[in-house]
Amino acid sequence: MRPVRYVRPAVIAAAIAALHEERIAALPPSDSLAQFIAGGTNLVDLMKLQIIRPAMLVDINWLPMDQITPNGAGGLRLGAGARNAETANHPQVQKHYPLLSAAMLSAASPQIRNMASNGGNLLQRTRCSYFYDHATPCNKRTPGVGCAAIGGLNKYHAILGASAHCIATHPSDMCVALAALEATVHVQSDGGTRDIDFADFHRLPGIHPERDNTLLPGELITHIDLPELDRFASHSAYLKIRERLSYAFGLVSVAVALDLDDTGLIREARIALGGVAHKPWRTSAAELCLVGVVPQRQAFERCAEMLLEGALAQHSNGFKIVLAKRTVVRALEAATAGTAQTHDFYMGALE
Ligand SMILES: Cc1cc2nc3c(=O)[nH]c(=O)nc-3n(C[C@H](O)[C@H](O)[C@H](O)COP(=O)(O)OP(=O)(O)OC[C@H]3O[C@@H](n4cnc5c(N)ncnc54)[C@H](O)[C@@H]3O)c2cc1C
Ligand code: SF4
Repeated sequence: MRPVRYVRPAVIAAAIAALHEERIAALPPSDSLAQFIAGGTNLVDLMKLQIIRPAMLVDINWLPMDQITPNGAGGLRLGAGARNAETANHPQVQKHYPLLSAAMLSAASPQIRNMASNGGNLLQRTRCSYFYDHATPCNKRTPGVGCAAIGGLNKYHAILGASAHCIATHPSDMCVALAALEATVHVQSDGGTRDIDFADFHRLPGIHPERDNTLLPGELITHIDLPELDRFASHSAYLKIRERLSYAFGLVSVAVALDLDDTGLIREARIALGGVAHKPWRTSAAELCLVGVVPQRQAFERCAEMLLEGALAQHSNGFKIVLAKRTVVRALEAATAGTAQTHDFYMGALE
């Protein structure tokens, strides 16, 4: 058995310092030596499988970052420590950001949503089965050894933005909605604070698939800001296609937010795809092609073609290209018809 030290600081500066001290004490410094732990729903699994072997856990559940409050600019501030269930069911989230609420309620199970934190959701690792299997090569787990999914079982893998080093997808539902809503991630470290646009938070695999995102070593996510976006609240939809109705990661998911003018034309469109790439997938061309048009099927099909432009299948996941296009069209139709009540979504009315 490997001993793991555990600390439970009550203030943010102490949590950051604890992680920093552990990292500089190690020669050479390594991120895996000390880890923040929030709900533990992903990290503990990774530790049990020895994918991550931290020598110290810094418990961040006692830090004052679990609130959901107005952000002072007309939007909402989601504490990184707030739970997924609390966030999805928060009256202000449901009223102003029904897209986010629907996406979050489609994820995992009620028990997991009660434990999972917002910060942890952004940083959850891929569900590529080879990543969790020490018997197979995986560049994300051990850089430079190869990728078992290329030429292996790749039904669930990426069709956009993949590289010759990794074809994994990002599994989060919350992040697909946050991408469409253009959230900002606030982080803090011993060097100060910084804000990261959501589009820049996750990264494509390139030659460094071991790096999922652009966080720097030792940075703590403190909160996520949502801009004021009431213009989208009445026409949004999150559509997640999966192999069973609940408790499953998406094969493909689509987050849509539309702003319609008084004559019913589309004034602005936001569309993000999940389950297809190493990060939530958006393209400005696909969104701009809907501006000023009547929201109808032909325009939606053109938009879906543009969004999936450049999609490349592995030998087992060609169906995802067709599925993604159809899901984009259906999600756009659903958003045009009007935002479904969370209850309708949860009961499968959109499935
Ligand atoms: C069976 C199962 C099904 C699931 N299904 C879905 C699904 O359908 N859709 C979906 O989106 N998700 C799904 N999930 C994933 C789940 O949402 C994530 O595991 C969860 O959101 C992670 O949050 P956590 O607080 O438990 O993170 P932890 O496990 O505590 O941490 C995860 C990582 O984030 C880091 N971390 C956590 N908080 C911070 C912070 N504030 N700052 C810096 N680093 C931090 C940790 O160091 C760790 O590396 C599922 C999980 C399970 C186990
Ligand atoms: S797709 Fe990425 S995570 Fe999966 S085996 Fe290949 S390198 Fe590893």
